[in-house]
Amino acid sequence: MHPDLVAISNLWQLDHQNDLLREEHERLASAVRTAASVLKAAEASVAAATAERDRITTATRTNDRELADYADKRDRTRKMIDTGTAPDYAAAERQLAQVLEIVDRLETAALELLDATEGAARTLLDARKEQERATTALAEAREALGARDAPIRAELTELIARRPPLAEEVRGELRSTYAQLRQRKRPALVNTVENMCQTCQTRIPTQRVVETTLARAIHNCPGCGAWLLP
Ligand SMILES: [Zn+2]
Repeated sequence: MHPDLVAISNLWQLDHQNDLLREEHERLASAVRTAASVLKAAEASVAAATAERDRITTATRTNDRELADYADKRDRTRKMIDTGTAPDYAAAERQLAQVLEIVDRLETAALELLDATEGAARTLLDARKEQERATTALAEAREALGARDAPIRAELTELIARRPPLAEEVRGELRSTYAQLRQRKRPALVNTVENMCQTCQTRIPTQRVVETTLARAIHNCPGCGAWLLP
């Protein structure tokens, strides 16, 4: 390999390693952020399900009280009718009919509330399970980040320290081309297969490939600008 290409390759390997470590760190940190937002949503679901269950419980209590009152009224009215103690028999009959209708309605409501109570309990149970899962997932994501955080930082520090002498090895103009490629987040080196750049699929003039292979010169891909590897 041409000595200039060796110097570029050494620097590229270091920088690429740096990129990979940063990507790994970002992936782990992003997983924590995602898990945290999933947990937040799960907590909101639990809160909503709890509020709904409480609402149904209150409605059930109110309905039960009303039902007890009207059942009582029904029994009293019936007794008056049965024992002939009603001051106005026809009025008592009308009242009984009315009360029976209300009791019927309240009993139907009670059954509906019972269904709603079961549904709300199931929803709340599911929401709590989901919250548990999300809590575990967040703990795992944090643990994964925690386990790699310090080693990644240590490796990055080491790479940064090792970089200047490697950068020195890359000669003047090549170094600014290299810097431009890095700035554009492009690879600095590319492989060619049958005269084609494997990164951007641009055809490379045969002479460039030959000179690269024979280490006589170094060349850039006319498409992506990266240096050609032999
Ligand atoms: Zn290319």
